[in-house]
Amino acid sequence: MARDEAGREMTRRDFLRHAAAGAALTVGAVSGLGELSTALAKTTENQPAGMPYRIFGRTKERVSLLGMGTIRTKNPAVIHKALDLGVNFFDTAECYRGGNSEIDLGKALKGRRDQAFVATKWHTNGRTPAKDLLASLDESLQRLKMDHVDLIQIHGAKSAGPVKSDELWEAFTRAREAGKVRFNGVTTHENQVAVVRAAIETKRYDAVFVVHNALTAGTVGPAIAEAHKAGVGVMVMKALAPAHQGKRLAAFRELKGNPYQRAIQWVAKDPNVSTVVVDMPTFDELAEDYQAVTTPVTSAQLEEFEGAVTRIAAGTCHLCGACTGQCPAGVKVADIMRFSLYHDGYGDRERAVSLYRELPPGATAAVCGDCASCRVVCPWGVPVKSQLERTHAVLA
Ligand code: SF4
Ligand code: SF4
Repeated sequence: MARDEAGREMTRRDFLRHAAAGAALTVGAVSGLGELSTALAKTTENQPAGMPYRIFGRTKERVSLLGMGTIRTKNPAVIHKALDLGVNFFDTAECYRGGNSEIDLGKALKGRRDQAFVATKWHTNGRTPAKDLLASLDESLQRLKMDHVDLIQIHGAKSAGPVKSDELWEAFTRAREAGKVRFNGVTTHENQVAVVRAAIETKRYDAVFVVHNALTAGTVGPAIAEAHKAGVGVMVMKALAPAHQGKRLAAFRELKGNPYQRAIQWVAKDPNVSTVVVDMPTFDELAEDYQAVTTPVTSAQLEEFEGAVTRIAAGTCHLCGACTGQCPAGVKVADIMRFSLYHDGYGDRERAVSLYRELPPGATAAVCGDCASCRVVCPWGVPVKSQLERTHAVLA
């Protein structure tokens, strides 16, 4: 959970109230949003159709521009309301909340499976035997209580290697032939351009799931355009990262408008993107994000948002992965920066702590305190050593 200057825990809504007190918040103003989310929570009838849809690459599926990430979503009523609002894309993974994300999503979609495009993942380094991957998929299907998922994805590819793996291709092919998946894809947080280009080059992938936002635009943006052109569907994660990263900085408090909605609108304006997948565990967040994709936004408003992002760019982690492999002691710097965002930005302490404690002992930041000076060079000027030490103190 993020904290304000007084050290109090600050949620996404707290931040908006805080910002509204000091600056003009015009789009999705907190009071209006509260009314909308209250209405959503109480309404049992379907809402008027307002959700935009896009074609999901060569799958030809029509997916909602706002997709639902389910890492933290435990309340089935929120998933039901998302369906009512026209959300039809749902992403989960075998490891989210120890498998409970799949269990909860499956329960919520019971009786409404035909309204949802369901994506899950399998962990692999490209050398995992096909039979183990297929066993992992069977376990996911058991948790989801479904006979198939629409999309199975390599979880967090860090290089082109897994994407080009024949072992993986055998697993994908056998899963499709068994009718357990319809399409296959790859997710990536690091080395994204190489991973996306490998997915395009192999012609084996229907979709890529990438980190894309106003902070990362210059790096992954062109690869996303290439993917779209090649018929590879593009899902975007971490669209909200600039707002999460900037919420404690003055540049965002001066913004006219809701920075979370602007962050979504900024990604949604990219025609190469099929769906923006956002974790929405509450009615409040669902209301806010639904409003973002159904409310017109002007170029001037997006330019103002870009300006604020530019002002926080120096010293802010872009999750670019350029620090991967730089630490001579083997500290997994990029992974730890991402876990730090989950904790400080998303307020998801459970996930951040769990992921950090799963790192091999030598890969954590426990050794950073012994370093006279950090050897990692961050192109964005992030103070790596102090950031890692602080994260270790919070998550270890
Ligand atoms: S610390 Fe720097 S190099 Fe590492 S992911 Fe963040 S921005 Fe990129
Ligand atoms: S402070 Fe030292 S151990 Fe920590 S990341 Fe930098 S070089 Fe590696």
